[in-house]
Amino acid sequence: MQMNEPFTHAIPILHTLHEHGHQAYFVGGAVRDVLLGREIGDIDIATDATPDTVESLFEKTVDVGKEHGTVIVLHDGVSYEVTTFRTESEYEDFRRPKEVAFITSLKEDLLRRDLTINAMAMDINGEIIDHVGGKQDIERKRIQTVGDPACRFQEDALRMMRAVRFLSQLGFELADETAEAMKKDKHLLANISVERKKIEMEKLLKGRHCQQAIQLLISTKLYEELPGLKADRLHESFQAFPYYLLDGLDEIWGAFIHLLGLDKEEAVSFLKEWKLSTKLLKDAIAISQYVDCDWDAENMFKAGEHVLLSSLKITQLKHERRIFFDELEAAKHSYDALPIKKLQDLAVSGKDLMAFRQKTSGKWIAEELDLVKKAVLQNRLENRKEAIEEWLKACDQQLEND
Ligand code: ATP
Ligand code: MG
Repeated sequence: MQMNEPFTHAIPILHTLHEHGHQAYFVGGAVRDVLLGREIGDIDIATDATPDTVESLFEKTVDVGKEHGTVIVLHDGVSYEVTTFRTESEYEDFRRPKEVAFITSLKEDLLRRDLTINAMAMDINGEIIDHVGGKQDIERKRIQTVGDPACRFQEDALRMMRAVRFLSQLGFELADETAEAMKKDKHLLANISVERKKIEMEKLLKGRHCQQAIQLLISTKLYEELPGLKADRLHESFQAFPYYLLDGLDEIWGAFIHLLGLDKEEAVSFLKEWKLSTKLLKDAIAISQYVDCDWDAENMFKAGEHVLLSSLKITQLKHERRIFFDELEAAKHSYDALPIKKLQDLAVSGKDLMAFRQKTSGKWIAEELDLVKKAVLQNRLENRKEAIEEWLKACDQQLEND
């Protein structure tokens, strides 16, 4: 096969390993994606050289888990994971391998991989090495484990979620045997850390074929092993939402909790169960709260530009299944036209109010600033110190007259 960028860029790494008497191949996702004609993500390289040898052969390396066989090699501004051929002999609690053994057989290294489509290698000439029928499964659009699915899920139950997430990304079908094993062994997923599940869940939601993937989570009952998911919440409009048209993870999780119909308190504990970082949790909640809201000046001010645009996008997708960019553009203009973007933009501060009122500080300051802010946002009051002081005087007068 004719090899193109980004593989050609990594060829010097294979050369160096070859020159020193080692085997070296491209493996895993990049090989799958080149056969699919998809955009290539990271390029992973597998070799029979030990991690110490890899470190000694290249000038710039980073140890990212030598005990598992992986060293990052930096070449010409790009980083590549170079991993020693290995088997994962013993598994602890259906999770991570207890220990990995370095080996010299490419074939065995390929056989330890999760799915046939992920278990191919490509040599320096672009020849595909496929011991597991991965090419055929790509042609037939089929996802199945390498070897007996029940055994492979026993070793590492995360593979069940990985199968569903690749289905979501590629629109493939699950092979019957793999689906059967999943139904039978779904409880094994309970042993997997939320952190690992979350990575797969986020990729699953972002997949173009997410609807089928969610239906599969339901039909296999895998969802029962995922934090906070209940059957009655995973309704049609939840499934059909095009998450893939969103950008950041805050939007994805924001849409997710909105469509699940969680109130704020439920959403906080749901996202905590999924172990989202504090920042991501806060952003996702803010975004979900503003879905379907009326965008007056005060809401725009409170939400801020990012939350405004994200929740507007989710609102559009929820009702129309597409994004209306001109509406987003118009919203951005309205936001830009706000007289103030934050409280500090007001022409008066708390201190000014204290001087003006000749009063000591207290709760009244926040209340009064809030009144001023509202009037300025609604264009009833010019954001200028003298104007504001006059306006406050007029308000006082009004109160006296009432
Ligand atoms: P992506 O493009 O999403 O990164 P990928 O195929 O590169 O997809 P990774 O999670 O980066 O997926 O894993 C790299 C490779 O390691 C996979 O292609 C697969 O061969 C192997 N692999 C990953 N996770 C497992 C697992 N749980 N069990 C067995 N092999 C795995
Ligand atoms: Mg990868």
